[in-house]
Amino acid sequence: MSEFASESSARPARIVSLRTHDIRFPTSLELDGSDAMNPDPDYSAAYVVLGTDSPDGLEGHGFAFTIGRGNDIQSTAIRALESYVVGRRLDDTLEDLGGIWKAMVHDSQLRWLGPEKGVMHMAVSAVINALWDLKAKRAGKPVWEVLAGLTPEQLVDLVDFRYLTDALTRDEALAILRAAEPGRAERKAKLLAEGYPAYTTSPGWLGYDDAKLRRLCAEAVAEGFTQIKLKVGADLADDIRRMRIARETVGPGIRIAIDANQRWDVGAAITWVEALAEFDPWWVEEPTSPDDVLGHATIARAIAPIKVATGEHVQNRVVFKQLLQSGAISFLQLDAARVAGVNENVGILLLAAKFSVPVCPHAGGVGLCELVQHLSMFDFVAVSGSLDDRVIEYVDHLHEHFVDPVRIENGNYVTPTAPGFGATMHPRTLLQFAYPDGPVWTAAKQRNAS
Ligand SMILES: [Mg+2]
Repeated sequence: MSEFASESSARPARIVSLRTHDIRFPTSLELDGSDAMNPDPDYSAAYVVLGTDSPDGLEGHGFAFTIGRGNDIQSTAIRALESYVVGRRLDDTLEDLGGIWKAMVHDSQLRWLGPEKGVMHMAVSAVINALWDLKAKRAGKPVWEVLAGLTPEQLVDLVDFRYLTDALTRDEALAILRAAEPGRAERKAKLLAEGYPAYTTSPGWLGYDDAKLRRLCAEAVAEGFTQIKLKVGADLADDIRRMRIARETVGPGIRIAIDANQRWDVGAAITWVEALAEFDPWWVEEPTSPDDVLGHATIARAIAPIKVATGEHVQNRVVFKQLLQSGAISFLQLDAARVAGVNENVGILLLAAKFSVPVCPHAGGVGLCELVQHLSMFDFVAVSGSLDDRVIEYVDHLHEHFVDPVRIENGNYVTPTAPGFGATMHPRTLLQFAYPDGPVWTAAKQRNAS
C-alpha cells in the first residue's frame, strides 16, 4: 500500500477551502455578444475553486456567468455559502448532492435574498456545479457520464420536487427515467461516435455590419451547421434587412432562429415577428420578460406556426413548470449556471420530458458551452432519449481560456471524455483577467487615462 493510500484511509479527505476569482474579459471592445438589451457586455465569471486536502490535489471548479458590473457582488454571494462546503468530508458530500442542494437553497436567512432566484440562486449554482466537477473528477469521468450512470432512484434523489408535483411527481419522474433505461448503452455509443448537434449564434450579433453578417452566415453553413441565430429587436428596418441577407446567404434549408433578448412588450413582439415571418424564422427567443409566463403563451398562440423559445433568464424550475403547463414554449432553453446547478437542471430536463418539449440549451457567454453540453448529453442517454429538434447553442468565444474546451466538428459538439465538468480555466487566465488589478485591466485603465 502506498504512503498516500494509507494516509488517506486513516484521514478521509475534506473540502478545505472556497476561493473566488472576479474574472472579466473586455469583450465590449469588439461588440462580441452585443444584442438589443446588452449592447456592451464584458463577459465575466464569478469563479469558484473548492480546494480539498486529498493527496492528489483534487479541486472543484465552477462559476456564475455575468456580463461585467456586479461580478463582484456575485462573487460575494458565492462566498456566503462557504460554511456549507468547507470542512465537510469529501465522500459524504459527493454522495449526497441532493441533500446539500436542499440545505443551501433552503438556508433560512439567505433564502430571503431570492427565494430561488437571482444572485443568490446563481451562487448556489456555482458551488453545486463545482461539487459536480469534484465528483466527476474523482470518478475519472465527464459529468454527463457520471449522471448517465446513476440509477433512476439516485437521479430523482437529486431533485427537489417541492412546487413541481402538480405537474411532475417523483413517481412520474421515475417512470420517465426507467422507460429510458433500456437504450442507454446504445445512445452512449452513438454520442461518443457522432457527438451532439449544435447551432451557432456567432453570425448574428447586433453590432456586426452587413458584410460581416454575410461572411459569418456563409462560414456557418460551410462548417456544417444546419441552424444559425440572429439577434433582433433594436430596429425593425434593420432586422428585415439583416434577415433578408441571412436567408439569401444560407438558403431555404437552414433554420434561422431569432433572439430578441426580452426587448418587446407582448403586442410589439407579435407585430415584429409577423413582420419577419416571410424569412421563415424557426423560433423567436426571449420575446418579452422572462417572468411573463402568460405573455409568452399569448405570443405563442398569435405567431404560430413560428415557435417560441426561452429559458436563459428563467430563474427556477417553478417558472419553467408554468411555461410548459401554459403551452408557452416549443423549445426549453435551460442554462447551466442560472438556476441552481446540475440538480435543478435534472428536474427541468424531467419536466421537459414530461411535456415532450425539446431542450435546446442556452450557451455562449464564457464557459456555458463547456458546461451545458453535459446536460444535453445526459438528457439524450438517460432522460428524453431523443435528438429530434434538439441542438445546443454554440458561440466561438473565449474557449481558449479553458483546460478542456469544447470541440465542434461538422456542426456537432464532440462528446467530451475528460474527467469533470469542463469548467476549469487555465491558471494564467485567472491571473491575467482578474478584475480590477490583473494585467489586462490595468493596461486598459492606462489606455483610457492616456
Ligand atoms: Mg438568447
